[in-house]
Amino acid sequence: METMPREQLRAVQDERLRDVVRRCYENVPFYRDKMQKLGITPKDIRGVCDIELLPFTDKQDLRDNYPFGMFAVPNSEIVRIHASSGTTGKPTVAGYTSGDIDRWAELMARALYCANVGKNDVVQVAYGYGLFTGGLGAHYGAERVGASTIPISGGNTVRQLMLMEDFGSTTLMCTPSYALNIAEAVEKEGIDLKRLKLKSGIFGAEPWTEEMRKHIEEKLGIDALNVYGLSEVMGPGVSMECMAKNGMHIWEDHFLPEVIGEDGKSLPYGQQGDLTFTTLTKHGMPLIRYRTHDLCTLTDEPCACGRTHVRMGRIMGRSDDMLIIRGVNVFPSQIEHALMQVEGVSPQYHIVVDRQGNLDTVEVQVEMKPEMMSDTVKDMEALSAKLHASIAAHALVNAKVKLCQPGTLPRTDGKAKRVTDKRKL
Ligand code: ADP
Ligand code: ZN
Repeated sequence: METMPREQLRAVQDERLRDVVRRCYENVPFYRDKMQKLGITPKDIRGVCDIELLPFTDKQDLRDNYPFGMFAVPNSEIVRIHASSGTTGKPTVAGYTSGDIDRWAELMARALYCANVGKNDVVQVAYGYGLFTGGLGAHYGAERVGASTIPISGGNTVRQLMLMEDFGSTTLMCTPSYALNIAEAVEKEGIDLKRLKLKSGIFGAEPWTEEMRKHIEEKLGIDALNVYGLSEVMGPGVSMECMAKNGMHIWEDHFLPEVIGEDGKSLPYGQQGDLTFTTLTKHGMPLIRYRTHDLCTLTDEPCACGRTHVRMGRIMGRSDDMLIIRGVNVFPSQIEHALMQVEGVSPQYHIVVDRQGNLDTVEVQVEMKPEMMSDTVKDMEALSAKLHASIAAHALVNAKVKLCQPGTLPRTDGKAKRVTDKRKL
């Protein structure tokens, strides 16, 4: 399936799209109403060529149908319920049939295999286990490839390191910000990398930059690969980078991606917009044209690994994470990129936005590297000035830079909270 010629893949998608549209129409009142309002029935959808006839689904639709209104099977068929952390408002719920869980394990196994993880590996799953899909999603995939799977969950970093060494973990799965904390702890505890067997990391669930990848790879001596997913569409493993490290292959036999522009039209490959998925094989909670609000681009350029599925670029950020500062759109990942251009600071940072009078203000707090601590006030001022200039150049904002002592900004064992927006308090 992963290397199927694209015309053949399209035929699989056509058939599966017809099937999911019919299932939604027959079993989910929300979709039947929407399609009736648009004057279409499942018969009008011949295949992917007709995708634009179908309605979009937004997070708000899931909230309006909270908790189980989007399910397409009787509750007796649902074997698992997850919910997103609901950073903004009520959580969004996802229900899975046993078939859905099986396909999720399979797709997550594909993802692990992209990182060459197999039965001889020991996989340390340091994503949180719980309603959040990260832990269990990674877990089932790791077991499916036959790896020895350690369900340690997030947190307790010192214990993570002990088990990593004692159990000989070869692969670490967690958020990139937690990987960074683990890398710091390795350094702090003075652990020689030779004592560890770690060779790869599968990191996702939040945006991170290419610079952060290099930093983690160096500190842990591994290949760090990007994995993407969201609970509404499945969980982790919707897409995954291969060893070519040039974007994440979306498993297109199960998810039909589109990138939607501001006018609501599907954009051609290469253009940035709102990543949107139609789930082709989910039964518990199938979704049609679900707007993720994750901004990215797609490409169908051939990949060195031989997989034919399209690749998505790094997520620039969710449109809900975008800060508007004095009219300029800024993503936290742009600030991260700007900081990482300058020697002397670590990728631990926090952005505080406020308003004084009518003017937005931004303070970027960033930790210095320990070796900078012996530097003079003048050196510090020079460092601040460099960071200020880099932020102005890469993110187009005039930010106040606050250099912090190493280890003083709050750490996370899950998704990092990069921004405090006091304008909203
Ligand atoms: P929540 O909405 O509570 O954060 P999820 O855990 O389902 O719930 O989060 C999914 C979101 O996480 C995605 O829509 C995306 O914004 C972000 N995400 C997941 N993986 C990545 C990744 N590899 N890079 C950037 N962002 C990611
Ligand atoms: Zn590839």
